Amino acid sequence: MNTDSNKSVQAHGGHLKILVGLAVGILLGLVAHAVQSRGDSGREFVESVIGFTEPVGRMFLRMMQMVVLPLVVSALFLAVVDVGDLRRLGRIGLTTLFFTAILSLSAVMIGTLLVNLLQPGKALSAETRAVLTEKYSARAGENVTRAAAAKSLGQTLVDLLPENPVQEMVGAVDGTSKGNGMLAVMCFALLAGIAASMQPAETAVLAGTMRGLYSISMMIIGWALKLAPVGAGCLVFAVTAQMGTDILRALWVFVLVVIGGLLLHLLVVYSVVLKSFTGISPLTFFRRISNAMFVAFSTSSSSATLSTSLKVAHDELKLNPETANFVLTVGATGNQNGTALFEGVVVLFLAQVFSVDLSLGQQFTVVLMSVLAGVGTAGVPGGSIPLIIVVLKSVGVPADGIAIVLGVDRILDMSRTLVNVVGDLVVATCVDARIQGPRAVGIQDAVSD
Ligand code: ASP
Repeated sequence: MNTDSNKSVQAHGGHLKILVGLAVGILLGLVAHAVQSRGDSGREFVESVIGFTEPVGRMFLRMMQMVVLPLVVSALFLAVVDVGDLRRLGRIGLTTLFFTAILSLSAVMIGTLLVNLLQPGKALSAETRAVLTEKYSARAGENVTRAAAAKSLGQTLVDLLPENPVQEMVGAVDGTSKGNGMLAVMCFALLAGIAASMQPAETAVLAGTMRGLYSISMMIIGWALKLAPVGAGCLVFAVTAQMGTDILRALWVFVLVVIGGLLLHLLVVYSVVLKSFTGISPLTFFRRISNAMFVAFSTSSSSATLSTSLKVAHDELKLNPETANFVLTVGATGNQNGTALFEGVVVLFLAQVFSVDLSLGQQFTVVLMSVLAGVGTAGVPGGSIPLIIVVLKSVGVPADGIAIVLGVDRILDMSRTLVNVVGDLVVATCVDARIQGPRAVGIQDAVSD
């Protein structure tokens, strides 16, 4: 057996371990949830187990989050420097934009279609609506206050350029950014990369340092992935143990619309796009990227999954680093198909709940705003909630109504983040095939697997 197939067998063993970790985590979580309802002693026992498993899960998450910033900066800087030719970079950028636009639009269309067809808002009784609103109103209030600070388009554009890049980097990570957070950091890294590519001799040392930073981050991710079966298992255990099954029962039609839409997009749209633009077998593709899917599902964060996506693109899909680094890094924040679908569904669902009749024009506004909101959403757990509130306000649906869906948000967040991450990898693969040509070595490998 040659080294490549050895590596592949090991990688598939790794996928299997994470899958087993996730399955065990979910199963034990469900058992813990049942034990909790048996009274105080059961609850105390489960709380003490969560007290032990939650830190383990969060340590795994931290290992991923720890390298997000060095990775975003070094990957984008190097992507520009390695492409070298600015016209070629422009082509990569435009091709990325093209695939991002068609995938986001089709995602929102699927969601809109399902929500109009199944009318989940009509299935919710006034009583349940009142109970949910009361229960989650505090959390909804916090988000509404945060969303109220939404900026004008002009200010959003100005904030793409950070006043102080270092402060913006700190703010992008701890959520205190006054500007555009990660998007502004990306702009800075892109501009720095462009400037460096114009004077390669003078900036060779800096490029070398960035390459070092990049490979250190990737090595740390390699270690984190070894912990993934336990880490991801602990994360999903805590979620399922605390999940209210009552709320799932109350909102089941809504949950069905979201999960059904996400599945349609994941299995049908991505497969068709992959097959027609790259010739890759969707099955091979999904198998190769499964590590990134598991990490996205357990962490609910595209940003935290970025490092795993980069690793998968490099080791499994064998994409060209210059296209993969660029597309995946930009995509972790800018291409969120699952989020766009979710945002459209929530707004139309709440309009049904509050009997706000949206005209075709208003529905079109929702579609457009959801696509754009998918670009602006931070790749963190619950990142889409403040943007949904902005869309709700713009079409006259009560923003506090967001409380109704907050109780099921975590499980839907896990699912939409998985779709977001797969979307980034689909775009990266398509862009790679367009730029390098379908005969690129990695793509051929993947087809013949
Ligand atoms: N959690 C999502 C992500 O990181 C964002 C969201 O939809 O809330 O991609």
